[in-house]
Amino acid sequence: MANRNSLFSIGAARRPGRPHWTPASLLVLTLSLLSCQSPPEAVRPNLIVIFCDDLGYGDLGSFGHPTIRTPNLDRMAREGQKWTHFYSAASVCTPSRAALLTGRLPVRNGMMSPKHRVLFPDSASGIPQEEVTLAEALRNAGYATACVGKWHLGHLPQFLPTNNGFDSYFGIPYSNDMDQTRKESTRDLVKEARIEYWNVPLLRDREIVERPADQRTITRRYSEEAVRFIEENRERPFFLYLAHNLPHVPLFASEDFLGTSRRGLYGDVVEEIDHGVGRIMQALTGLGIAERTLVVFTSDNGPWLPYREHGGSAGLLREGKGSTWEGGMREPTIFWWPGKLDAGVVMEMGSTLDLFSTFCEIAGAEVPSDRIMDSYDLSPVLFGSGESPRKSMFFYRESKLYAVRQGEFKAHFITKPVYTRRTETETHHDPPLLYHLGRDPGEQYDVAHLYPDVIQDMEKLVSDHRSEMVLGEDRLAQRSQDAKR
Ligand code: MG
Repeated sequence: MANRNSLFSIGAARRPGRPHWTPASLLVLTLSLLSCQSPPEAVRPNLIVIFCDDLGYGDLGSFGHPTIRTPNLDRMAREGQKWTHFYSAASVCTPSRAALLTGRLPVRNGMMSPKHRVLFPDSASGIPQEEVTLAEALRNAGYATACVGKWHLGHLPQFLPTNNGFDSYFGIPYSNDMDQTRKESTRDLVKEARIEYWNVPLLRDREIVERPADQRTITRRYSEEAVRFIEENRERPFFLYLAHNLPHVPLFASEDFLGTSRRGLYGDVVEEIDHGVGRIMQALTGLGIAERTLVVFTSDNGPWLPYREHGGSAGLLREGKGSTWEGGMREPTIFWWPGKLDAGVVMEMGSTLDLFSTFCEIAGAEVPSDRIMDSYDLSPVLFGSGESPRKSMFFYRESKLYAVRQGEFKAHFITKPVYTRRTETETHHDPPLLYHLGRDPGEQYDVAHLYPDVIQDMEKLVSDHRSEMVLGEDRLAQRSQDAKR
C-alpha cells in the first residue's frame, strides 16, 4: 500500500543515521545550489492509457478467457489493480473516446447526438473546440503528450489530436472498417479480409503517410511508436494515449502472430496487443522509469457480437457493443504502477470518465472548474486510502438515458438489443427492470418487485440528473453566446 505523501518522492530512499558531510561534499552542494535558477521540479509521474477497440470483458486470460494468452496483461493485473466494475461511458467508439478525454458524459461534451452513433469519413464535425481534453490539461501542466492509434473525434484538421492537446499523432483517425472499397457487406468482407477492402488513411500528425493503411502490421507499429515516444521522453513527465484500432473488425495480425492462437484470428490479434503491452512494460523497466509511470489498460466498449468469431466475448456479462447491458460498457481494466498501487482486485465502481480527474490529481494539473464534470478522482482506491467516490453510473444510448446503476443495483428504463442486430427495437420499462449486480452480474433475474424503495431511489437519481443536465445545457449555451460576443 502506498502512502500519498510518497507519490512525488521517488528515488528519495532514506538511510538510517546522521548525514556525514565532508568539505568536498559541502562544496559540491553549495555549487549545485548556486547553479539552480529555480528549485528542481518534483518528479511527476508519467501517465499512459492503452485503449482497445471492442475488446470484451471476457477476452483476457486474467478476466477468465480459457484460450487467449495474455501473459503481460495478466502480470500487470497481478502486480497492479484489476478492476471488475469499470465502465466506459458509451457503448460505441466516438462518444466513449470523447468521454475519456474530457471527463464528461458524451451528452455534455457534444459527441453524442440523436443523429449519429459515431463519426464517419464524411462527417464534418468533431470534438468541440471549447472542450478541454485531458491532453490539454496535462500539457498545460508541463507534460509531453502523444496520441498513437485510433482517434475518432473528427478527422478534419481542426479536430485532430494535434489541435486538441497532443504534441504528436500517429494513427488511423477513425474505425478500421470505414472507407470500404467493395459493395459486399462488411459481414462478408471480414471473413477473407484484405487491406485494400478498407481505404483507411494512416496519419503522421496531420499528413497522410499511407493509404490504405497496412492493417496487418498496424498493432506492431503502434506499439513501436509508443516505445519510441517513451524512450524519447524518458527525462520529462509524459502522457501517452495509445488507442489500438483492433480488435475491432476487420481483424488483422502480423506474420509473427497469424495462426498462433487457439482462439483463432481474434485471439491472434489480442495476443499481439498483449505482446505490445509487454514491450511497453519492458521499455519502462529498462529505462528505470516504471516506478514513476502509471499505466491503465481498458477498452472503449464491449464486443461486437453479431460478428460471431470475429467479435470478442463479454464473458458472463449480458450482450455487447451498442447495448446498455453490462456487456456493452463494462470493460476489462487494469491499473499498473510498480510499488505504488494498493495491489489486488478492485470490486468498486470506476469509469473511463474518471481518468481525467485521477490523472490531473496525480499530475498536479487543473480540472476545468467552469463546467460540469462527470469525473471522479480514483486516487483513494489506487493508493489504498479510501473508497471509490463513484457510486453511480449513467448508461446512455445516443442521447437517451437507458439505465442507471447505483451501488449494487442497476435499473433499465429502456432496453434495445446489441448494435447491430437485424431488429433493433426499443422497449420501455415501467417500472424499470432491476438487477442486483453483486448477486447477478449477468443481469438474468429481474427483482423489481422485491425492491420498490430501490426503484424510487433510482427514479429520484434520474430526475436529479436530468435537472442538472438541463442546467448544464443552459451553461453551455451561455458559453457559446459569450464566445460569439
Ligand atoms: Mg469500439
